[in-house]
Amino acid sequence: MKLRHLVIALTAGATLLACSDNEPNSVGDAPIAIAIHGGAGTITRDNLSREKEAEIREALTLATEAGYAVLESGGEAVDAVQAAIQVLEENPLFNAGRGAVYTYEGRHELDASIMLGDTLEAGAVSGVTNIKSPIEAARAVMERSRHVFLSGEGAESFAREQGLEQVSNTYFNTPHRYEQLQRALTALNQTEDETTLIAHQHWDNAFNMGTVGAVALDADGNLAAGTSTGGMTAKRWGRIGDSPVIGAGTWADNESCAVSATGHGEYFIRYHVAADICSRVKYQQLSVVEAGDQVIHDVLVNAGGTGGVIILDPMGNISMPFNTEGMYRASKTSNEQLTVGIYREE
Ligand code: ASP
Repeated sequence: MKLRHLVIALTAGATLLACSDNEPNSVGDAPIAIAIHGGAGTITRDNLSREKEAEIREALTLATEAGYAVLESGGEAVDAVQAAIQVLEENPLFNAGRGAVYTYEGRHELDASIMLGDTLEAGAVSGVTNIKSPIEAARAVMERSRHVFLSGEGAESFAREQGLEQVSNTYFNTPHRYEQLQRALTALNQTEDETTLIAHQHWDNAFNMGTVGAVALDADGNLAAGTSTGGMTAKRWGRIGDSPVIGAGTWADNESCAVSATGHGEYFIRYHVAADICSRVKYQQLSVVEAGDQVIHDVLVNAGGTGGVIILDPMGNISMPFNTEGMYRASKTSNEQLTVGIYREE
């Protein structure tokens, strides 16, 4: 039995004893919550068809409900995060799992990470090409290896040894992402210095839209966060974004908050966005709204970085700031019904 499970079991036992004189069981009253995102970018009512919007809202609903069902039945936050993300990884609408963007060479290289708020255990994979569910692989790294972060062929062979489901790289192919690659290659060919283009915000973030992530709070008061992505369209040379980088794209700490990010990864890495938000909560006693707004609307905007985050604290407070025109997002808590958002003004 892991230490944290032992602590939870002892705490639950103590609670039961304390409640034995017909007092209500406080575990049943503890808040539970989940928030998810499906990417941030140039999403406006004009460039999203009614049908596509309905499909996206439906997918976000299904993923949120899948995660919430885990929490409602007493499951752990990490299980809720994985359940929600796997629904989105399997949906070709999102840039994660099926539907992942293409690299410059016309393949798919996927990144994912996961973190626990009680023990700060974490796991991540990057540049994987044949693992069906990168978030499951990230979790396996956390729970079944001595390491935190595995990449490329090593991560693949670890996943095979662990019996995780393998697919051909073409499993991740979709026509709409292929078409985005062609447009991205055209844009790259029109610039003399492609490294400058990739490093700066002129890159059309519609090319990458759809990274997915989740944060959850379970009835034991534990937070977890996870993120999964295909990265940036036409990425080269083994490029890794923020999504698998603990502290940049994913962070969870019961003493502050849980965060999953989406946006221009180069900026999220350099400004260690997820951990910075939680540090502001932890050391400056800011609310998740204040901390998220400072980092997304001040720090990142001043730097030229675009994107957004979902944030959840141990009381079940949620904030979902973004500095792009839209961010696919949804949440549900024991106090608030399911809400789904896409555009800025909702
Ligand atoms: N953050 C991801 C990356 O840079 C992309 C995204 O979230 O849109 O790889």
